[in-house]
Amino acid sequence: MCHAFISDARFYQFLTQIDQDIAAQVQENNCPHCLEGSLHIANYPRKPRGLRELLDETYQTRLSFCCSREGCRRRCTPPSVRFLGRKVYLGVVVILVTAMAHGLSPHRRKALIEQLDLWPQAVDSWRQWWRVIFPTSRCWLSERGLFIPPIEGGELPGTLLGRLAGECLRQRLERLLGLLMPFTTGSWSASHSGSMRGVMDTQKM
Ligand SMILES: [Zn+2]
Repeated sequence: MCHAFISDARFYQFLTQIDQDIAAQVQENNCPHCLEGSLHIANYPRKPRGLRELLDETYQTRLSFCCSREGCRRRCTPPSVRFLGRKVYLGVVVILVTAMAHGLSPHRRKALIEQLDLWPQAVDSWRQWWRVIFPTSRCWLSERGLFIPPIEGGELPGTLLGRLAGECLRQRLERLLGLLMPFTTGSWSASHSGSMRGVMDTQKM
C-alpha cells in the first residue's frame, strides 16, 4: 500500500495545481448566470483543520469569482479537489478518514483522528453523508451503473475507492476527488461537469 503520499506536502501542492487549472478554465468563460459579465477574482478565506503542517498558504484560499456586470455581480465558485463545500476539512481528509476508519481497529482509528486533528463527531457526520446523501445524489446515480457488481450504499466510500482505476491509493483518491467535484460548489452549474472530468483525466496524475 502506498500511503506515504498522505504525509507528503507535494501531494497537497499537486491538488492546488488542479484547483488552479479548473479555476482558470472557468474564468475563460463569461458569468454562468447572466452570460455577459466577465469573472473577477473574489476568493474566500479558508482555515482548514487537519494536516496543517503539510499545507502551504494556498490552502488559506478557496478560489472564487464574482461577475463584473453591474446588476448581476453574482458568485461563481469553481469546483475543487481540495475543499468540500463550506466544511472546514479538506475533501481529501473527509474521504480518507471515512474510507479508512471503516477497516481500522479502535486504537488505529483513534490515532488517525488525532494525527489529522479531527473532531470525532465530524467523522460520524461524514459517515452519515456517505450513507444518506451521496447515494441519492445525481452524481452517484449517474455513475453507479458503471460498477459491476454494484456498490451498495453501506459500502461507501471504502469500496468505491478500492474499485476506481488507479495503480495506487493516491491515483484512486484523485479519481474519487474528481468524482466529488460537483458537490464542492453550489454556484457553478452541474451541466459543466462533463468538461471538468477532462481536467481530472489528464495524465498529470
Ligand atoms: Zn453575471
